Amino acid sequence: MSETIQKVLLSELQKVRIICNNPNCGAILETPLADLGRFLPNGTCRYCNTDLMPGNENTLLTLANAIHTLNAAAKRVVVEFVLPVKPEAK
Ligand SMILES: [Zn+2]
Repeated sequence: MSETIQKVLLSELQKVRIICNNPNCGAILETPLADLGRFLPNGTCRYCNTDLMPGNENTLLTLANAIHTLNAAAKRVVVEFVLPVKPEAK
């Protein structure tokens, strides 16, 4: 059985969703990728104030910087995500 996949270039990513996993909250926060590094400056959910960052640093800022650095190096390297496409439920 063949697998259907979708390929997404890192440079094509435009929006990011951050989902709070606090069972009493579940907020879905969405931001343009360009604003990711400054989206949650305190590292907490805007609705329930849960700490969303593992460790002592703003991991979203680290991720935003890594994405920016890789996209700026596109002459040298291209990053592509390969996503499985699930068949539509009938
Ligand atoms: Zn929350």
